[in-house]
Amino acid sequence: MFDKILIANRGEIALRVVRACREMGIRSVAVHSTADADAMHVRMADETICIGPAPSADSYLNVAAVMSACEVTGAQAIHPGYGFLSENARFVQAVEDHGLTFIGPSAKHISMMGDKITAKETAATLGIPVVPGSEGGVNSVEDAKKIGRDFGYPVIVKATAGGGGRGMKVAADEAGMERAYQTARSEAKAAFGNDEVYIEKYLQRPRHIEIQVFGDGQGGGVHLGERDCSLQRRHQKVFEEAPGPSISPESRAEIGAICANAIAKMGYRGAGTIEFLYEDGEFYFIEMNTRLQVEHPVTEAIFGVDLVREQIRVAAGLPLSFSQDALQINGHAIEVRINAEKLPNFSPSPGTITQYHAPGGLGVRIDSALYDGYRIPPYYDSLIGKLIVHGRDRTEALARLNRALGELIVDGIDTTVPLFHALLQERDIHTGAYNIHWLEKWLEAGGLER
Ligand code: ADP
Repeated sequence: MFDKILIANRGEIALRVVRACREMGIRSVAVHSTADADAMHVRMADETICIGPAPSADSYLNVAAVMSACEVTGAQAIHPGYGFLSENARFVQAVEDHGLTFIGPSAKHISMMGDKITAKETAATLGIPVVPGSEGGVNSVEDAKKIGRDFGYPVIVKATAGGGGRGMKVAADEAGMERAYQTARSEAKAAFGNDEVYIEKYLQRPRHIEIQVFGDGQGGGVHLGERDCSLQRRHQKVFEEAPGPSISPESRAEIGAICANAIAKMGYRGAGTIEFLYEDGEFYFIEMNTRLQVEHPVTEAIFGVDLVREQIRVAAGLPLSFSQDALQINGHAIEVRINAEKLPNFSPSPGTITQYHAPGGLGVRIDSALYDGYRIPPYYDSLIGKLIVHGRDRTEALARLNRALGELIVDGIDTTVPLFHALLQERDIHTGAYNIHWLEKWLEAGGLER
């Protein structure tokens, strides 16, 4: 096992990794930008090192700075968290070339899944059902229009290098295709430096269902069921739950086995998430994330496992500590993302926390880097915390969410907490009758003002 792990991230996820390290008796090294000198992950880690100025490009995304921090502190392994360098194959290669361990999959698997066209092709080869669409990239508006006619409108134009919901545009009909195609391309160019796009059938009322998988890198693989992340705004998740209210034990077992077999066949190492759209009982692969997800705690809650600990163990060459049969679902868990954003427009709301009180009690978990007096820097993602509740069933989890939200105090800035209070008033949330378009429609219809 490693003696020391460097965490190439910040905020709640860096703190999450510090916690796993501490429980495993491993020393943790926090890296930070000058803007994060007072951050909680820095306060809690065993060692800290400043890697550059505030902008991410000069600090958390600066490969040379992260590598030197490893060298200076003598860390043997790097945990990337999510975002930043977590899915950067060049970084992983550099880590391996320096004789260090990347806590995650191989550079090969990351680049395979990072390119969404290759990912879809690979998934199809491994027996995973995919969304119908173009074969490979689409290089002209004429080709795009032909695909629209072949598959039938609406279709969605997506960036092959995509992520975070960027570079995605829907074309409702042929008249809208040119605009969708050009906008997706230019957004993709600006966001990823790669303007290649592909086209998929646009599903009208699917749910977003993702399967948590884990591979030991030696031909073994398991799945840890699904998460339903259908409540999204601008293709970004805000509320996630496990198990999915619409998934039967039979379909879970079936899609789970397909995913577990696929990653076993790939020889995949570590945690991964295979994302699907789910409509009329059918699963359609959209992408695979080769890292820990923001919403991993709901899976941890219902299976009673520590996914970060497992990532570290597998990276150190140890076998998985659970077999498929040992993984049994216990109850229901829900996570809500607390962002420093002002409603109703979700505009960034950085600033100083004047008062913070975290909820507690049975079945409540807070993953957050907040504290009284914390100054949220304006440079990074707006996620400031996650509230996760666990109950014996969905009804109890929802009641607990309501109770815990009522206890939470975050003063000094605006947050997305009122959104969740409002959502809990909605019948559809209680019956679980929502798809990926529900939240946007509800917001447009003035859901927040009611
Ligand atoms: P990203 O990597 O940017 O998150 P994804 O491919 O995972 O992109 O898609 C993100 C979200 O966009 C999905 O959860 C879904 O809401 C929507 N989406 C993507 N593809 C389709 C599709 N073919 N039909 C309908 N919605 C889609």
